[in-house]
Amino acid sequence: MPEIKVLPEDVVSKIAAGEVIERPASVLKELIENSLDAGASKIEIEIRKAGRGLIRVHDDGRGMDREDLRLSLGRHATSKLNVFEDIYSLATFGFRGEALYSIFAVSRLKITSFRAGAESGYAIEGEGGRVIAELPAPPVKGTTIEAADLFFNTPARAKFMKSDASERAQLIKTVEEAALANLGVSFRLVIDGAEILSLPTLPGGLWENLKSRSASIFGKSTYGGMARVEGKTTGMAVYGFASRPDALCATRVNQHFFVNRRPVSSALLRQAFYRGYGHMLSGRHPACAIFVELDPGSFDANIHPQKRDVKFSGENEIFKTISNTIYEELLSKQTAAVNMTAPAGEVKFGSPDVPAYREAAAPPQAAAGPGSVQDRTGQYNSSLPPLSGNGTGGLFDQHAAAAPQPAVPADWRGHELKYLGQLAKSYLLFECEAGLLVVDQHAAQERVLFEKYLDEFSKGAVRVQPLLVPLETELSRSQMETVLKWRDWLKTAGFEIDQRGPAVALLRATPALFYFTQPAFSEFLGYLSEVLGEPEKAAEDMKRGIIATMACKKSIKAHDFVKPQEAMRLMEDLKKAKDGYHCPHGRPTLFHLSGSDIARRFQRSAAL
Ligand code: ADP
Ligand code: MG
Repeated sequence: MPEIKVLPEDVVSKIAAGEVIERPASVLKELIENSLDAGASKIEIEIRKAGRGLIRVHDDGRGMDREDLRLSLGRHATSKLNVFEDIYSLATFGFRGEALYSIFAVSRLKITSFRAGAESGYAIEGEGGRVIAELPAPPVKGTTIEAADLFFNTPARAKFMKSDASERAQLIKTVEEAALANLGVSFRLVIDGAEILSLPTLPGGLWENLKSRSASIFGKSTYGGMARVEGKTTGMAVYGFASRPDALCATRVNQHFFVNRRPVSSALLRQAFYRGYGHMLSGRHPACAIFVELDPGSFDANIHPQKRDVKFSGENEIFKTISNTIYEELLSKQTAAVNMTAPAGEVKFGSPDVPAYREAAAPPQAAAGPGSVQDRTGQYNSSLPPLSGNGTGGLFDQHAAAAPQPAVPADWRGHELKYLGQLAKSYLLFECEAGLLVVDQHAAQERVLFEKYLDEFSKGAVRVQPLLVPLETELSRSQMETVLKWRDWLKTAGFEIDQRGPAVALLRATPALFYFTQPAFSEFLGYLSEVLGEPEKAAEDMKRGIIATMACKKSIKAHDFVKPQEAMRLMEDLKKAKDGYHCPHGRPTLFHLSGSDIARRFQRSAAL
């Protein structure tokens, strides 16, 4: 009696289904891809009971005739691949011919389709892989696929499904990604009778459509905090929308990556994207729709059966291009975006719906060394309510929501400033154009220091200050190795570092602009060695940016009390800064209350 037996067809089909169809969202993804492959310009989706009840996809694509309809349900039935070599040049999503077969195996399926030129439409119905009926249907352009009662015959599998809420979220994300990736196709999603997404195609080009879809998909407030990014290197382009550093989100849910217009999940892309933010994240997450365009020969999208993961051949190049694009685009765009009196709907003072500003103004969460800026900001924040309130009787809450937004941004750089004084040893107050300019002195100092240092560094002329008593810090072996490897480069950055024991580093000199305490230096070097540990991955000027940001953060700033001349001096420096509006971590350095803002608080109609 042989022990080996050939599995019956229905077992085989259920096993195959398990590989392709993991959850309702995978069914939906396959069906949408089939519609796209069929050249649809309109895809309508209806979901019931988080996909367990029904997943229905209707498209206006080329459709199938009776013969094709029958064939489509068989295993390895595809119209997209003829010879193996085609795999390398396919422009379609599918080619394995497994999706319909697998879905059919674990659901009650009905397909209705009409191909131009055929006598009539046709429908086929069945369940668990068995055809039950074939019938004629009206000649309606395209194909409608209804998959009902998913996993009805594989109860063990059904048990592994997540909560309805999580399945629904995944279904919505599937449509969102398809819609972001296929701007020329209109999408509509209805769940349990309610329209969740309606994304028509608009006249205009890529950016118009991407903008309007992003606004619907991310929601107004998240989208309002995003900036357009674009970058290019040979053989590669990156573009899309990404959160500004002052408008980050609490989770990663709003991140979408695409390679050649296909949604992917790639650790490489995500890491490169995060690296682009350098040190500006402090535990938060940027939202994004990032599109990477590559030569099709330079990556492999087929290593995963569901084609979410991709493998790249030029990883370093890709990493660099993405992180550099984000870094440069976001830094250069910050000034314009977080202008203090931004257009209505973006940054509003005191109104309860100002997540962007309020988050930015909150103290950073990361631990700080003694005497650092974070300490002081933290202390201040705990003893005084934040200026922009939280909707519970904050200073300026009451009328702001109803009040019109301040119109023209005050160009504080161009105006004469009159120093009024210092508040809580942390804020400098200036009169500007009959309004009030409030400056976070530590943020401003950091910005000025940062730019001075970067300027010296890029000119190869960092002024160095030897330490009378060298600072010592213990590192891990691998960190020590990295530091030694980068010793010469660190020297050009103004840091003279020696090795003491096998894993003890000795700091003999620092840039003259900085002053470190021992714990701050430890943190600085520990972090730096991690960044430098990926030598190929971060480009030179980004490393410079990172070292400057870190150094500014860890360095002790000028004393808290500021004399009037010092305050004026700081403002002169800040006026000359490339980005006077933000500290190097992306927090604001100042804001302006115009005369009319102030008048409004007192319910006066006229300005002061
Ligand atoms: P694959 O997409 O890998 O070819 P599928 O099982 O997803 O395999 O689909 C099998 C075949 O059925 C496709 O190759 C295509 O010819 C046909 N088909 C599936 N869905 C549609 C659709 N919405 N419109 C037209 N043809 C379709
Ligand atoms: Mg397919």
